[in-house]
Amino acid sequence: MAENLETLTACPVCSGNTFTPFISCKDYTVSRGTFKIVSCGTCGFVATSPRPTEAEAYKYYQSEDYISHSNTRKGLINKVYAWVRNYSIKKKEQLVTTTLGLSPETRRGKRLLDHGCGTGEFLDYCQKHGWDTMGLEPGEEARKLAISNYGLKVIKEVEINLLEEKRFDAITLWHVLEHVYPLNERIQKLKQLLKDDGVLIVAVPNHNTAEEKNTENFGRPTMCQGIYGTLTKPA
Ligand SMILES: [Zn+2]
Repeated sequence: MAENLETLTACPVCSGNTFTPFISCKDYTVSRGTFKIVSCGTCGFVATSPRPTEAEAYKYYQSEDYISHSNTRKGLINKVYAWVRNYSIKKKEQLVTTTLGLSPETRRGKRLLDHGCGTGEFLDYCQKHGWDTMGLEPGEEARKLAISNYGLKVIKEVEINLLEEKRFDAITLWHVLEHVYPLNERIQKLKQLLKDDGVLIVAVPNHNTAEEKNTENFGRPTMCQGIYGTLTKPA
């Protein structure tokens, strides 16, 4: 699918330059291609390598399946999916509220950026529960759906550089950071965008779980799983 693949020469986290094979897995969602996952010899970070170049990565996100199981609720499977998704959304919002030490009353008007908001279901819930929300979504189709379905404010990836510093109380990345190419730069940017007492909440796949070691599941977006890390902005 991608015409250009690039091999990692430096770890996106620690700049280490030794890698060992970790696992191979097949992309069942879009390309049906097999990808190799390597592990950094210095810090243990795992990443796809070779991987599509950033310019071609969008091709892997253009499927009905990937656009957040969009908006159909027909059939039992989709009903179950919608129920699980709604439960998950509620839990995520509770996590943001409690991490900030807020209550349903005091969260009103607090500013939340959801980085990689997809079609906007999480942000829609947050907006309806008092948050002042903004989404960032690189995928054009998903971005348009979030705006037209829920009336959300959703920016393109490049527009992140136009936002003023110390704007947000919370920034969330739900199974998104593993798709970001300029990893360290983006984290630095998100730190700038947080208020001094703001929080960054990140969920990424946990490659140490038995389920993720099953190659068919590796790297798939999974609900309510993975590592949830929260960081208070360093001084
Ligand atoms: Zn590393």
